[in-house]
Amino acid sequence: MSSGRRTCLVALCLVCLGSLTWAGCEATSSSAPATPSGKTGWKVACTTGMVADVVREVGGSHVEILQLMGEGVDPHLYKASPGDVSILATADLICYSGLHLEGKLADTLSRLSRSKLTCALAEHLPKDRLLNSDSEGSFHDPHVWFDVSLWAETIEPVRAVLEKLDPAHAKEFAERAAKYRGELEKLHAECTEKLASIPKARRVLVTAHDAFRYFGRAYDIDVKAIQGISTEGEAGVKQINELVTFISEHEIKSVFTESSISERNMQSLIEGCNQRGHRVARGGELFSDAMGKAGTPEGTYIGMVRHNVEKIAAGLK
Ligand SMILES: [Zn+2]
Repeated sequence: MSSGRRTCLVALCLVCLGSLTWAGCEATSSSAPATPSGKTGWKVACTTGMVADVVREVGGSHVEILQLMGEGVDPHLYKASPGDVSILATADLICYSGLHLEGKLADTLSRLSRSKLTCALAEHLPKDRLLNSDSEGSFHDPHVWFDVSLWAETIEPVRAVLEKLDPAHAKEFAERAAKYRGELEKLHAECTEKLASIPKARRVLVTAHDAFRYFGRAYDIDVKAIQGISTEGEAGVKQINELVTFISEHEIKSVFTESSISERNMQSLIEGCNQRGHRVARGGELFSDAMGKAGTPEGTYIGMVRHNVEKIAAGLK
């Protein structure tokens, strides 16, 4: 092979690599199937409700969503059932959140990504907008959906992978993506305004596990949690005692439970505060790693965010 031809091939590969990065999703050895495998649209397996919602909003009637994790399900601990494996194996496209959120599914997802069209939404976000989950910076905090302006950035990789799956409807996907982006921009402005109405000194959010760091950064709220970023591992007595001291000293009025996390630790925290003579109320249940029931407003991403923001604003004011 002449060196000129070799240079051309290298250049072509670089162009291909560039366009893959631009598309934001993995194009694997198997190209997209030519027609939908189901009568009701392309079968898209999605892990969490938040992921399913973006795909549904962009894909519209051209996708049939097969959602693995429903209401109240903790994605950090979720293991694939034999039924899930067959859903994943027969799907035309697999969408998941990524950044190790679905910790126990990671091997299955990475194996399938070698033979299937897949998209890990959060792994296509700009790295400089991600928070580290450990002091070494080797992992990123996966809870990106709590900053609405950041989650809106996952619309583009979803649009791109749907275009790859179904090029005939690319124009419709682009229009739907632009519309949804507009809705999320409005939602972000609404959250900013509502949370700014809490006096600065009272803007401290105490929750069961550390899912709200992006939320805290986006909306200028100090966040504290009993458990770490993943729900694997028990919260220590020392951690709970430190939080009891913090809450009592800062006279924080409310703490919040989460729909996908057990209440046991939160109960110990409240009792600890009571013993120190500081009464702390339950500010209500927040949706953290799972959305609400399908068919209710909280069963959508926008409804879930609104619910959380209203509860937090009411509990901390
Ligand atoms: Zn979490």
